[in-house]
Amino acid sequence: MIFSTRLLVSALALASSAVFAQSNETLSDAEFARCLADLRPSALKQGLSSDAYARLTTDLRADLSVLPLLNHQPEFKTPIWDYMAGLVDEERIADGQHNQQRWHSVLAEISARYKVDPATVVAIWGVESNYGQVTGKRDLLTSLSTLSCVGRRQSFFRGEFLTALQIVAAGHISREQMRGSWAGAFGQTQFMPSTFMRIAVDFDGDGRRDLVNSVPDALASTANYLKQAGWRNDEPWGYEVRLPPGLDTSGAGRRNKQPLSYWHSRGVVLADGSPLPTQGPNAGLLLPAGVEGPAFLVLRNFDALYSYNAAESYALAIAHLADRLRGGSAFRTPWPTDDAGLSRAERREVQTRLTLLGYDVGEADGIIGEQTRAAIRSFMRGIGEDSDGRAGQKVLARLRERS
Ligand code: CA
Repeated sequence: MIFSTRLLVSALALASSAVFAQSNETLSDAEFARCLADLRPSALKQGLSSDAYARLTTDLRADLSVLPLLNHQPEFKTPIWDYMAGLVDEERIADGQHNQQRWHSVLAEISARYKVDPATVVAIWGVESNYGQVTGKRDLLTSLSTLSCVGRRQSFFRGEFLTALQIVAAGHISREQMRGSWAGAFGQTQFMPSTFMRIAVDFDGDGRRDLVNSVPDALASTANYLKQAGWRNDEPWGYEVRLPPGLDTSGAGRRNKQPLSYWHSRGVVLADGSPLPTQGPNAGLLLPAGVEGPAFLVLRNFDALYSYNAAESYALAIAHLADRLRGGSAFRTPWPTDDAGLSRAERREVQTRLTLLGYDVGEADGIIGEQTRAAIRSFMRGIGEDSDGRAGQKVLARLRERS
């Protein structure tokens, strides 16, 4: 949300290998201290006390390890089928259904107040932080103060840094627990500080908007986000559809919405072959992998999901996970690949098998990073096959044959 590179760096992202640009930027201790002194008037103007500013910034030290993350360029685009296979796997569906049961009454209250259905709220929770389990470990004030004083987006990060100080000073979240992604997304909803200020709510009534420790606060804040983004509880996000042969798809696109009757009249049907509803808001044709892959008609609720983290693949993952949590089925049309993506359990298996064969992939954490990719390339070369290091079903099958 808000900061578009966030998903790339969250623990849930597919950790496709990235080229980390060398950074020549430096920041001496004296320069950092001067920068913090320069920021002080703005902090006081926003209502922070002089004492609080001193208390929260005195021990700060710049951490330049965030700069390569700010400057990184993905080496290649993660295929949509890899992205979806990692985010909507059996494990996340089962964990989500368990959490739906566990938080049933809270979700019912949230749904009544914000008019957002439980499955959608839980799906966002699952993708953002794996239901509160993966929220980022970087000290937020350290990262945000560093990025406020060096690098290419200082004015953006200054706003986030000053807001993070306010959140801590107000006692919503403790200084020690203010941890998250390098870019400043934190807590179970992975809100940026500015989003927190605008959207977060205290749902459990303890006076604090605690997105780190309180599941009710986190779930209600997510629902509030969707409500503010225009979510309508009586409408679906969209439909998986089947296109008639020869349909002109030059007008495809989430934003290029047409009445459902328009698509109906052109022969578009639901993926199971049943007729498309003709009542409802306008819909855009989404083809995430081209005409050979699954096709979707997406309605305005899809745009609300998109606003949480500006990527269509992200919105599709949320929408699909929510459907699966309700007992819905996998997409009917397969992705156009002969080497399907891996679930997180399968990714861990790839890593475990590589380790057994003597490759160093670090911890088998299910995140395919550069170390794992290098091991895959090396393993595949060893058996006479080409590989760019991508972890798909073919690599897993080869590993199962040999370990
Ligand atoms: Ca609270």
